[in-house]
Amino acid sequence: MVYDTAIIGTGPAGVSAALNLKIHQKTFVWIGSRNLSDKISKAEKISNYPGFLYATGTQLNDAFRRQIEEMGIEITEAMVNTIYRMGDHYALAAGANFYETKTVILTTGIVNRNVLPGENELVGRGVSYCATCDGGLYRGRKIAVICNNRRFEHEVKYLSDLAAKVYYFPGYKEVSDLPENVEKMNVRAVSIDGGERVSQISLSDGTILPVDGVFCLRDSISLATLLPGLETKDGHIAVDRAMATNLRGCFAAGDCTGRPYQYTKAVGEGNVAAHSVIEYLADYDK
Ligand SMILES: Cc1cc2nc3c(=O)[nH]c(=O)nc-3n(C[C@H](O)[C@H](O)[C@H](O)COP(=O)(O)OP(=O)(O)OC[C@H]3O[C@@H](n4cnc5c(N)ncnc54)[C@H](O)[C@@H]3O)c2cc1C
Repeated sequence: MVYDTAIIGTGPAGVSAALNLKIHQKTFVWIGSRNLSDKISKAEKISNYPGFLYATGTQLNDAFRRQIEEMGIEITEAMVNTIYRMGDHYALAAGANFYETKTVILTTGIVNRNVLPGENELVGRGVSYCATCDGGLYRGRKIAVICNNRRFEHEVKYLSDLAAKVYYFPGYKEVSDLPENVEKMNVRAVSIDGGERVSQISLSDGTILPVDGVFCLRDSISLATLLPGLETKDGHIAVDRAMATNLRGCFAAGDCTGRPYQYTKAVGEGNVAAHSVIEYLADYDK
Protein backbone atom coordinates (compact mmCIF):
# COMPACT_ATOMS: atom_id res chain seq x y z
CA MET A 1 0.00 0.00 0.00
CA VAL A 2 1.22 3.52 -0.77
CA TYR A 3 -0.06 5.90 1.94
CA ASP A 4 -1.03 9.48 1.13
CA THR A 5 1.47 10.66 3.71
CA ALA A 6 3.65 9.78 6.68
CA ILE A 7 3.92 11.97 9.75
CA ILE A 8 7.24 11.61 11.56
CA GLY A 9 7.02 12.61 15.23
CA THR A 10 4.22 12.71 17.78
CA GLY A 11 4.65 16.16 19.32
CA PRO A 12 2.02 18.92 19.02
CA ALA A 13 2.90 19.55 15.34
CA GLY A 14 2.37 15.87 14.51
CA VAL A 15 -0.86 15.74 16.52
CA SER A 16 -2.26 18.73 14.64
CA ALA A 17 -1.27 17.32 11.24
CA ALA A 18 -2.78 13.92 12.10
CA LEU A 19 -6.14 15.40 13.23
CA ASN A 20 -6.49 17.42 10.03
CA LEU A 21 -5.52 14.55 7.74
CA LYS A 22 -7.98 12.25 9.51
CA ILE A 23 -10.79 14.79 9.09
CA HIS A 24 -9.95 14.95 5.36
CA GLN A 25 -9.92 11.13 5.17
CA LYS A 26 -6.36 10.83 3.94
CA THR A 27 -4.46 7.60 4.52
CA PHE A 28 -1.36 8.05 6.63
CA VAL A 29 1.12 6.27 8.84
CA TRP A 30 2.07 8.24 11.94
CA ILE A 31 5.39 7.17 13.46
CA GLY A 32 6.76 8.12 16.87
CA SER A 33 5.99 7.48 20.53
CA ARG A 34 2.49 6.51 21.71
CA ASN A 35 3.23 8.59 24.83
CA LEU A 36 3.51 11.59 22.48
CA SER A 37 6.37 14.04 23.03
CA ASP A 38 8.20 14.27 26.39
CA LYS A 39 8.14 18.01 25.81
CA ILE A 40 4.39 18.06 26.35
CA SER A 41 4.22 16.12 29.60
CA LYS A 42 7.32 17.78 31.11
CA ALA A 43 5.87 21.31 31.12
CA GLU A 44 4.98 22.31 34.70
CA LYS A 45 2.47 25.01 33.85
CA ILE A 46 1.37 26.20 30.42
CA SER A 47 0.03 29.72 30.30
CA ASN A 48 0.10 30.47 26.56
CA TYR A 49 -2.12 27.74 25.06
CA PRO A 50 -5.52 29.25 24.17
CA GLY A 51 -8.40 27.48 25.85
CA PHE A 52 -6.30 25.92 28.62
CA LEU A 53 -5.78 28.23 31.60
CA TYR A 54 -2.64 27.10 33.46
CA ALA A 55 -2.83 23.51 32.27
CA THR A 56 -0.01 21.22 33.27
CA GLY A 57 1.89 19.38 30.56
CA THR A 58 0.28 16.15 31.70
CA GLN A 59 -3.21 17.64 31.26
CA LEU A 60 -2.41 18.83 27.74
CA ASN A 61 -0.89 15.44 26.90
CA ASP A 62 -4.02 13.66 28.22
CA ALA A 63 -6.27 15.97 26.18
CA PHE A 64 -4.27 15.28 23.00
CA ARG A 65 -4.39 11.53 23.63
CA ARG A 66 -8.13 11.49 24.28
CA GLN A 67 -8.74 13.37 21.04
CA ILE A 68 -6.50 11.03 19.02
CA GLU A 69 -8.16 7.94 20.50
CA GLU A 70 -11.69 9.26 19.99
CA MET A 71 -10.92 9.98 16.34
CA GLY A 72 -9.55 6.47 15.90
CA ILE A 73 -6.06 7.61 14.94
CA GLU A 74 -3.23 5.12 15.47
CA ILE A 75 0.42 5.74 16.21
CA THR A 76 3.10 3.33 15.04
CA GLU A 77 5.61 3.10 17.89
CA ALA A 78 9.02 3.38 16.21
CA MET A 79 11.79 5.73 15.16
CA VAL A 80 12.20 6.50 11.47
CA ASN A 81 15.85 5.85 10.60
CA THR A 82 15.94 6.93 6.97
CA ILE A 83 13.70 8.35 4.29
CA TYR A 84 14.51 7.85 0.60
CA ARG A 85 13.05 9.78 -2.30
CA MET A 86 11.99 7.21 -4.93
CA GLY A 87 10.80 8.89 -8.13
CA ASP A 88 7.52 10.59 -7.26
CA HIS A 89 7.13 9.05 -3.81
CA TYR A 90 8.99 8.26 -0.58
CA ALA A 91 10.15 5.10 1.18
CA LEU A 92 10.66 5.15 4.94
CA ALA A 93 12.57 2.71 7.12
CA ALA A 94 11.36 2.47 10.73
CA GLY A 95 12.89 -0.36 12.74
CA ALA A 96 12.51 -3.46 10.59
CA ASN A 97 9.50 -2.06 8.69
CA PHE A 98 9.28 -0.11 5.44
CA TYR A 99 6.51 2.22 4.32
CA GLU A 100 5.81 3.86 0.97
CA THR A 101 4.10 7.23 0.89
CA LYS A 102 3.25 9.93 -1.65
CA THR A 103 4.29 12.73 0.72
CA VAL A 104 6.03 13.20 4.07
CA ILE A 105 5.45 15.59 6.98
CA LEU A 106 8.48 16.00 9.25
CA THR A 107 7.50 17.03 12.80
CA THR A 108 10.65 15.80 14.51
CA GLY A 109 11.17 18.66 16.98
CA ILE A 110 14.58 20.18 17.59
CA VAL A 111 17.11 17.78 16.28
CA ASN A 112 19.76 16.68 18.75
CA ARG A 113 22.91 18.54 17.87
CA ASN A 114 25.08 16.38 20.14
CA VAL A 115 26.29 14.27 17.28
CA LEU A 116 29.66 12.84 18.31
CA PRO A 117 32.78 13.45 16.22
CA GLY A 118 33.11 10.45 13.90
CA GLU A 119 29.40 9.54 14.14
CA ASN A 120 28.19 10.89 10.78
CA GLU A 121 31.26 9.55 8.96
CA LEU A 122 30.82 6.01 10.34
CA VAL A 123 27.03 5.60 9.86
CA GLY A 124 26.48 2.21 8.24
CA ARG A 125 30.07 1.21 9.04
CA GLY A 126 29.55 0.36 12.70
CA VAL A 127 27.37 3.28 13.78
CA SER A 128 23.69 2.36 13.87
CA TYR A 129 20.45 4.05 14.97
CA CYS A 130 18.35 0.88 14.93
CA ALA A 131 18.77 -2.06 17.32
CA THR A 132 16.16 -4.18 15.52
CA CYS A 133 17.74 -3.66 12.09
CA ASP A 134 21.42 -4.07 12.96
CA GLY A 135 21.58 -5.84 16.34
CA GLY A 136 22.07 -9.23 14.67
CA LEU A 137 25.38 -8.06 13.20
CA TYR A 138 26.89 -7.87 16.67
CA ARG A 139 26.19 -11.37 17.98
CA GLY A 140 28.95 -12.21 20.47
CA ARG A 141 30.70 -8.84 19.88
CA LYS A 142 31.49 -5.79 22.02
CA ILE A 143 29.35 -2.72 21.47
CA ALA A 144 28.68 0.69 22.98
CA VAL A 145 25.18 2.11 23.33
CA ILE A 146 24.59 5.85 23.71
CA CYS A 147 21.01 6.50 24.78
CA ASN A 148 19.22 9.71 25.79
CA ASN A 149 15.85 8.39 26.85
CA ARG A 150 14.66 5.66 29.20
CA ARG A 151 12.03 4.63 26.67
CA PHE A 152 14.74 2.93 24.56
CA GLU A 153 15.88 0.62 27.40
CA HIS A 154 13.98 -2.33 25.88
CA GLU A 155 16.29 -1.95 22.84
CA VAL A 156 19.33 -2.04 25.14
CA LYS A 157 18.02 -5.27 26.66
CA TYR A 158 17.49 -6.69 23.17
CA LEU A 159 21.08 -5.79 22.22
CA SER A 160 22.42 -7.32 25.44
CA ASP A 161 20.86 -10.67 24.41
CA LEU A 162 22.97 -10.60 21.24
CA ALA A 163 26.24 -8.87 22.14
CA ALA A 164 28.83 -10.34 24.47
CA LYS A 165 29.39 -7.00 26.17
CA VAL A 166 27.56 -3.67 26.13
CA TYR A 167 29.13 -0.42 27.37
CA TYR A 168 26.13 1.72 28.24
CA PHE A 169 26.19 5.55 28.19
CA PRO A 170 22.82 6.77 29.49
CA GLY A 171 22.13 10.48 29.07
CA TYR A 172 19.33 10.40 31.66
CA LYS A 173 18.80 9.66 35.37
CA GLU A 174 17.15 6.64 36.99
CA VAL A 175 18.53 3.89 34.81
CA SER A 176 16.67 0.59 35.34
CA ASP A 177 18.38 -2.63 36.31
CA LEU A 178 19.97 -3.96 33.14
CA PRO A 179 21.38 -7.42 32.35
CA GLU A 180 24.81 -8.40 33.74
CA ASN A 181 26.71 -7.93 30.49
CA VAL A 182 25.66 -4.25 30.35
CA GLU A 183 28.21 -1.99 32.04
CA LYS A 184 26.81 1.41 32.94
CA MET A 185 29.49 4.02 32.22
CA ASN A 186 29.83 7.10 34.41
CA VAL A 187 31.96 9.07 31.95
CA ARG A 188 30.94 10.62 28.65
CA ALA A 189 31.72 9.27 25.21
CA VAL A 190 33.55 12.05 23.31
CA SER A 191 34.18 10.49 19.90
CA ILE A 192 33.60 7.42 17.78
CA ASP A 193 36.78 6.38 16.01
CA GLY A 194 37.71 4.08 13.16
CA GLY A 195 38.89 3.86 9.59
CA GLU A 196 36.92 1.51 7.34
CA ARG A 197 34.72 0.62 10.31
CA VAL A 198 34.21 1.62 13.95
CA SER A 199 37.11 0.35 16.04
CA GLN A 200 36.85 2.24 19.33
CA ILE A 201 35.12 4.88 21.38
CA SER A 202 37.02 7.62 23.25
CA LEU A 203 35.86 8.73 26.69
CA SER A 204 36.05 12.05 28.58
CA ASP A 205 38.59 10.65 31.08
CA GLY A 206 40.99 9.75 28.25
CA THR A 207 40.13 6.03 28.23
CA ILE A 208 39.78 4.29 24.87
CA LEU A 209 37.36 1.37 24.61
CA PRO A 210 37.77 -1.02 21.65
CA VAL A 211 34.29 -1.82 20.28
CA ASP A 212 32.84 -3.40 17.13
CA GLY A 213 29.84 -1.13 16.87
CA VAL A 214 28.07 1.85 18.42
CA PHE A 215 24.28 2.23 18.69
CA CYS A 216 22.99 5.78 19.13
CA LEU A 217 19.45 5.59 20.53
CA ARG A 218 18.19 9.14 20.69
CA ASP A 219 14.90 11.03 20.41
CA SER A 220 15.97 12.39 17.04
CA ILE A 221 18.24 11.58 14.15
CA SER A 222 20.42 14.11 12.33
CA LEU A 223 18.53 15.60 9.41
CA ALA A 224 21.29 14.73 6.95
CA THR A 225 20.99 11.05 7.91
CA LEU A 226 17.19 11.08 8.09
CA LEU A 227 16.54 12.56 4.66
CA PRO A 228 19.57 13.22 2.43
CA GLY A 229 19.21 16.35 0.28
CA LEU A 230 16.92 18.18 2.73
CA GLU A 231 17.85 21.87 2.83
CA THR A 232 18.51 23.35 6.26
CA LYS A 233 19.15 26.86 7.53
CA ASP A 234 20.85 27.53 10.88
CA GLY A 235 20.24 23.92 11.92
CA HIS A 236 16.50 23.98 11.11
CA ILE A 237 14.59 22.66 8.09
CA ALA A 238 14.13 25.44 5.53
CA VAL A 239 10.42 25.85 4.63
CA ASP A 240 8.17 28.33 2.84
CA ARG A 241 4.81 29.61 4.11
CA ALA A 242 3.10 26.42 2.94
CA MET A 243 5.60 24.48 5.14
CA ALA A 244 7.06 22.98 1.96
CA THR A 245 10.74 21.99 2.04
CA ASN A 246 13.06 22.00 -0.97
CA LEU A 247 12.02 18.37 -1.73
CA ARG A 248 8.75 17.94 -3.68
CA GLY A 249 6.06 16.39 -1.50
CA CYS A 250 8.04 16.85 1.71
CA PHE A 251 6.69 19.28 4.32
CA ALA A 252 7.86 20.16 7.84
CA ALA A 253 6.27 21.73 10.91
CA GLY A 254 7.01 22.66 14.51
CA ASP A 255 10.29 23.24 16.34
CA CYS A 256 12.21 21.53 13.50
CA THR A 257 11.52 24.55 11.25
CA GLY A 258 12.84 27.15 13.70
CA ARG A 259 12.01 29.48 16.59
CA PRO A 260 9.95 30.33 18.55
CA TYR A 261 9.82 26.88 20.11
CA GLN A 262 6.17 26.96 21.23
CA TYR A 263 3.20 24.60 21.27
CA THR A 264 0.91 26.96 19.37
CA LYS A 265 3.43 27.57 16.60
CA ALA A 266 3.89 23.80 16.27
CA VAL A 267 0.15 23.17 16.19
CA GLY A 268 -0.42 25.95 13.63
CA GLU A 269 2.35 24.74 11.36
CA GLY A 270 1.13 21.13 11.63
CA ASN A 271 -2.26 22.35 10.42
CA VAL A 272 -0.72 24.26 7.47
CA ALA A 273 1.47 21.29 6.52
CA ALA A 274 -1.54 18.95 6.52
CA HIS A 275 -3.49 21.30 4.24
CA SER A 276 -0.49 21.65 1.93
CA VAL A 277 -0.35 17.86 1.67
CA ILE A 278 -4.06 17.77 0.82
CA GLU A 279 -3.52 20.35 -1.96
CA TYR A 280 -0.46 18.50 -3.24
CA LEU A 281 -2.38 15.20 -3.35
CA ALA A 282 -5.18 16.78 -5.37
CA ASP A 283 -2.63 17.34 -8.19
CA TYR A 284 -0.76 14.07 -7.57
CA ASP A 285 -3.89 11.94 -7.88
CA LYS A 286 -5.14 13.63 -11.09
C1 LIG B 1 10.02 21.64 29.98
C2 LIG B 1 9.40 22.34 28.80
C3 LIG B 1 8.36 23.23 28.99
C4 LIG B 1 7.78 23.88 27.89
N1 LIG B 1 6.78 24.76 28.13
C5 LIG B 1 6.19 25.38 27.09
C6 LIG B 1 5.09 26.29 27.32
O1 LIG B 1 4.67 26.52 28.46
N2 LIG B 1 4.54 26.86 26.23
C7 LIG B 1 4.96 26.61 24.96
O2 LIG B 1 4.38 27.17 24.01
N3 LIG B 1 5.99 25.77 24.72
C8 LIG B 1 6.61 25.15 25.74
N4 LIG B 1 7.65 24.30 25.51
C9 LIG B 1 8.12 24.09 24.11
C10 LIG B 1 7.27 23.01 23.42
O3 LIG B 1 7.39 21.83 24.17
C11 LIG B 1 7.73 22.77 21.99
O4 LIG B 1 7.75 23.98 21.27
C12 LIG B 1 6.80 21.77 21.29
O5 LIG B 1 6.74 20.55 21.98
C13 LIG B 1 7.24 21.53 19.85
O6 LIG B 1 6.42 20.58 19.26
P1 LIG B 1 6.93 19.71 18.01
O7 LIG B 1 5.78 18.83 17.66
O8 LIG B 1 7.49 20.59 16.99
O9 LIG B 1 8.16 18.87 18.54
P2 LIG B 1 8.36 17.93 19.81
O10 LIG B 1 7.37 18.21 20.88
O11 LIG B 1 9.81 18.05 20.15
O12 LIG B 1 8.03 16.48 19.25
C14 LIG B 1 8.82 15.87 18.27
C15 LIG B 1 8.69 14.37 18.43
O13 LIG B 1 9.24 13.72 17.28
C16 LIG B 1 9.98 12.59 17.71
N5 LIG B 1 10.96 12.23 16.67
C17 LIG B 1 12.09 12.90 16.31
N6 LIG B 1 12.74 12.24 15.34
C18 LIG B 1 12.00 11.13 15.08
C19 LIG B 1 12.15 10.05 14.17
N7 LIG B 1 13.20 9.99 13.36
N8 LIG B 1 11.21 9.07 14.17
C20 LIG B 1 10.13 9.13 15.01
N9 LIG B 1 9.94 10.14 15.91
C21 LIG B 1 10.86 11.13 15.93
C22 LIG B 1 10.63 13.06 19.00
O14 LIG B 1 11.09 11.97 19.77
C23 LIG B 1 9.46 13.81 19.63
O15 LIG B 1 8.65 12.94 20.37
C24 LIG B 1 8.25 23.64 26.58
C25 LIG B 1 9.30 22.74 26.38
C26 LIG B 1 9.88 22.09 27.48
C27 LIG B 1 11.02 21.12 27.24
